[in-house]
Amino acid sequence: MAETTKLIYKYLRHDKKFPHVWCPGCGNGIVLGALIRAIDRSGYTKDDIVLVSGIGCAGRMPVYVDFNTLHTTHGRALTFATGVKLANPRLQVIVVMGDGDATAIGGNHFIHAARRNINLTALIVNNSTYGMTGGQYSPTTPYGALATTAVFGTIEHPLSIAELAVAAGAAYVGRSTVFHANLLDQLIEAGIRKRGFAVIEAISHCPTLYGRKNKLGGPVEMLNWQKAVAVPVEKAKTMTAAELVGKITIGTLIDRDLPVYTKELRRIRDAARDAGGVQI
Ligand code: SF4
Repeated sequence: MAETTKLIYKYLRHDKKFPHVWCPGCGNGIVLGALIRAIDRSGYTKDDIVLVSGIGCAGRMPVYVDFNTLHTTHGRALTFATGVKLANPRLQVIVVMGDGDATAIGGNHFIHAARRNINLTALIVNNSTYGMTGGQYSPTTPYGALATTAVFGTIEHPLSIAELAVAAGAAYVGRSTVFHANLLDQLIEAGIRKRGFAVIEAISHCPTLYGRKNKLGGPVEMLNWQKAVAVPVEKAKTMTAAELVGKITIGTLIDRDLPVYTKELRRIRDAARDAGGVQI
């Protein structure tokens, strides 16, 4: 049996009677494949893993896989995940969000999870649109792009998820496109192994809404665009700012050791107990 088929049988919930809700050619399936490969290589059992999501097309991932799963409310996945991690720090908590879910509705949670360096892995699927709710523009939609809420082109400027995570203090930040699926699973695996807040941005594509509206072609053309604009981190260091305009840097953007929130909290609890306070 081929390796991919084995992983599908091992991790996908067969009681859910597929098909799934994703459109043909959507990048979400590639991201889910990369996530499963990364978890399998990390050596954790199904019971060690908690997969948490908010709302959106990417947020459907926990529905299809056989881990401990939580499908939560829009923008709040990181808050549920924080609660799970604090209740049982031994669990490996992975949070799957879309660009709107993570950086608009959940934007504040995202910044503060990074700042606290809570030991979670945040996998953010960035397809530049709100897919499930009908193709509205999101915080990562490029300036001038068309959306159902920007029929003459959006006048807002996009933010960079990965660079925001670096600035906010995440311990590990990686970015890949779904075209570079093998790099994507390597980055997710590194994020799972990292002690601290790890962010992996997966640049993906929504051919049904964003692609069609902006006349970007089908899934193949959108994947080819990802291939064309991606620049590995090491190569990017040799390029000028002008040469990097319109490019997407892929690879590990930062990997640093910082105090981890759950450990710090344990230290404070111990100090409170030793000082004669109430044991929590
Ligand atoms: Fe994927 Fe877009 Fe369809 Fe959602 S609407 S499943 S993001 S192609």
